[in-house]
Amino acid sequence: QHPVPFATTSAIAAKVAAGETKHVPTGFVDYAAYRANGGYTLLRDCAAGVHDIESVIATMESSGLRGLGGAGFPAGRKWRIVRSEPAPRLMAVNIDEGEPGTFKDRYYLERDPHRFIEGALIAGWAVDVETIFIYLRDEYHGCRAMLEAELEKLRADPPMPGMPKLVLRRGAGAYICGEESAMIESIEGKRGMPRLRPPYVAQVGLFGMPTLEHNFETLHWVRDILEKGADWFSSHGRNGRKGLRSFSVSGRVKEPGVKLAPAGITIQELIDEYCGGMQDGQQFYAYLPGGASGGILPASMNNIPLDFDTLQQYGCFIGSAAVVVLSDRDTATSAAINTMKFFKHESCGQCTPCRVGTAKALQLMEQPVWDVTLLDELSHVMRDASICGLGQAAPNPFDCVVQYFPHELTK
Ligand code: SF4
Repeated sequence: QHPVPFATTSAIAAKVAAGETKHVPTGFVDYAAYRANGGYTLLRDCAAGVHDIESVIATMESSGLRGLGGAGFPAGRKWRIVRSEPAPRLMAVNIDEGEPGTFKDRYYLERDPHRFIEGALIAGWAVDVETIFIYLRDEYHGCRAMLEAELEKLRADPPMPGMPKLVLRRGAGAYICGEESAMIESIEGKRGMPRLRPPYVAQVGLFGMPTLEHNFETLHWVRDILEKGADWFSSHGRNGRKGLRSFSVSGRVKEPGVKLAPAGITIQELIDEYCGGMQDGQQFYAYLPGGASGGILPASMNNIPLDFDTLQQYGCFIGSAAVVVLSDRDTATSAAINTMKFFKHESCGQCTPCRVGTAKALQLMEQPVWDVTLLDELSHVMRDASICGLGQAAPNPFDCVVQYFPHELTK
């Protein structure tokens, strides 16, 4: 019999209930402070008719804000699509934040929790939803205690009449529940497995109703965009790209952390200007631009704008902007093997190309010599036939090793 290495979920729940949870954030902007600084005025004005729904959605559209959870779908357009679906409608906020290397949502949540709640309520007002489900990563149990208390204050003193119901739901520790349709299954109380689409979540989502689904950070920016104007958001950006991005930077840099930087910034600019450079004595070797799923690029490709569209041309994607910097002490091969172990473990097992493909890929990658032809075939099958993004993106790291780091395979 193995000892239980970690506290179980119910043990954590008991500690939260008893007020004994560690890591409950302190020093954050609470409900009173947020309102004292003008918070929820925008929401109140929306509800009072000072702003009309069409102009709010139009501002969101022209800001160019795209979903910041990974898929990058334009936020304003999503509001319009869900609003055009028949009522009743629901909303889900994704704070599952399970992509390795991503910690931006927690960073903002621990500091300014009401900003995303106001964004969610404005989106809920614009789309006319009845209930907003907030799906929070269970490992963030300190945040949960804080958020539950702040939501209680909000419910006791609602800033708008007829405010949508806000329901906080705990995730259950599965990476796949960050995928929007798996999250919806999980909120419904089922096993978290992605759904086949169509129908899309915007049409048939939670409990069969049209559902507006957003990542936490997308909603975090709603208030600023509507208060400061679409041009304020779109005026940021570099290399022809528009907007701001929160990069979770980790790895061999001097100053890792959440870096709010212009969209379209390159990895070299990010390291030099925002992270204090590489750690002493280490040379920049490679980087993962989008966590485990976004692929691996060599340092020689240090001048590519880190954005949705550009990275796709190189077989990579930015996802939730989790940038992992590797140095000459690392290898792309070992990073790729590590990510494949992760995907194998986190595959929900629903479809064969992913369930068997991740296991087979790992087996091939752990051989002293990679069978590149077989891995290539496997990559095509996984990309073409997997149901969701996990299986489709899982080959990215080994494909990148073959394409950009062939010297590692001939050692
Ligand atoms: Fe599940 Fe993987 Fe299939 Fe996605 S691709 S549904 S994670 S088995």
